Amino acid sequence: NVSVVLFTCDLRLHDHPPLRAALDGARQVVPLFVRDRAVTAAGFDAPNRRAFLADCLRDLDAGLRERGGRLVVRSGDVVAEVCRVAAETDADEVHLAADVSAFAHRRERRLRRALEAEGRRLHVHDTVTWAVTPGTVTPSSSDHFAVFTPYFRHWSRQRLRDPLAPPRAVRVPDAVGSGRLPTREEVPERSPGLAAGGEREGRRRLAAWLRSGLAGYADGQDDLAGDATSRLSPHLHFGTLSPVELVHRARRAGGPGAEAFVRQLAWRDFHRQVLAARPEAASADYRTKHDRWRSEDTAHADVEAWRAGRTGYPVIDAAMRQLRHEGWMHNRARLLTASFLAKTLYVDWRVGARHFLDLLVDGDLANNQMNWQWVAGTGTDSRPNRVLNPVVQGRRYDPDGTYVRRWVPELRGVPGPAVHEPWKLGRERAVLDYPEPVVGLADGLARFREARARA
Ligand code: FAD
Repeated sequence: NVSVVLFTCDLRLHDHPPLRAALDGARQVVPLFVRDRAVTAAGFDAPNRRAFLADCLRDLDAGLRERGGRLVVRSGDVVAEVCRVAAETDADEVHLAADVSAFAHRRERRLRRALEAEGRRLHVHDTVTWAVTPGTVTPSSSDHFAVFTPYFRHWSRQRLRDPLAPPRAVRVPDAVGSGRLPTREEVPERSPGLAAGGEREGRRRLAAWLRSGLAGYADGQDDLAGDATSRLSPHLHFGTLSPVELVHRARRAGGPGAEAFVRQLAWRDFHRQVLAARPEAASADYRTKHDRWRSEDTAHADVEAWRAGRTGYPVIDAAMRQLRHEGWMHNRARLLTASFLAKTLYVDWRVGARHFLDLLVDGDLANNQMNWQWVAGTGTDSRPNRVLNPVVQGRRYDPDGTYVRRWVPELRGVPGPAVHEPWKLGRERAVLDYPEPVVGLADGLARFREARARA
């Protein structure tokens, strides 16, 4: 008998419950990936993620070939393609990892209906794309936690299953054609500094992180120039690394760095349980509603300056240019740039969230939308009216200006922390090809407070 494993955001062989279940139950397995045209139609396969995905698929195929198998790739409507492959190979069942978005729920429902109509079963596996399943820890009064700290307390007490070893051998039926694997070179619009994808690359990064990054994480986490975070987010997004395995391995390493790192992994699950309970929060204000945002049309010039990294605020511009160059940004930089757009410029958070999703290699519906809402003050932040000051924050998290000079060449000649306030430079200012601030911080703050008072 034959089972199909439909890979989605779980592009790995280590710790893969759907693959393990399929191999335990069947003689032959079809490891399948479908480039779903609904994802393309929604604009969600942005160039950086498409290029990283190509690496992941090639690496998954290579890993399967080492074990006597191969990856089968199709494109089109995911339900139609899975049913076609299941029919071609006469498979009894299909295995799939659970996911939280409304899109994933719809896919699962449609798939189940279509397969059952043909007498096949769909098995959905829980702890593949997260560590703790959304909905398993809840407060007594609601179906999900809206505040992180109590969620984290409960989350930390959950017993996680043990990670699974990768399979030794995978036998794929001869009858099914492999299809064409994409390459990253097919995506010329990708960012020039985009990281490499794939499970092997993810495991290499993880090993290096556990060896020499994790111990310093608690202290170095917010240092913009030090770049001392794991950069594992694209691997978590595409599932080339397992969140369950990461929590286990960090805990085993122990120490304050590991504790701080596990807490960040819990944030990932936290946002997933919010989105699972409130799928509409991907686009609608979650807790506090604001109708007075400036739209992209009204604030066109400001939004363009923000996207281009030409707001006149050096730390904001450095971060926005890093995003364009690498398809990735440090968490502190994400907080600053999002606060600047949503609060200082008072532009609808969805405009910023869309731009992030267009560029981030780790662009992830739950993490991106729920973090944007957190920063915009419409989400789960318990201090929704705080506004981050880019000068104060720049001086705190990039104290000697190294991060700014790395990404804003126009300011490379400005030494030390003075780089955070180019408008104070006196005569030197005149020769710098660097814009004036798009808005004064006091004016931005006044507009924000006034709008909030009326909201
Ligand atoms: P590390 O600091 O090494 O953390 C380890 C892992 O924990 C990360 O890889 C990530 O999976 C998780 N994590 C860390 N911080 C958060 C957080 N605040 N919320 C949820 N999970 C977290 N993360 C994404 O993966 N995709 C996104 O689209 C995304 N958009 C964001 C948008 C905004 C406005 C903000 C403020 C944050 C966003 N984040 C997003 C969260 C966070 O910034 C990134 O996960 C982190 O910067 C990735 O770098 P790292 O892997 O080095 O993180």
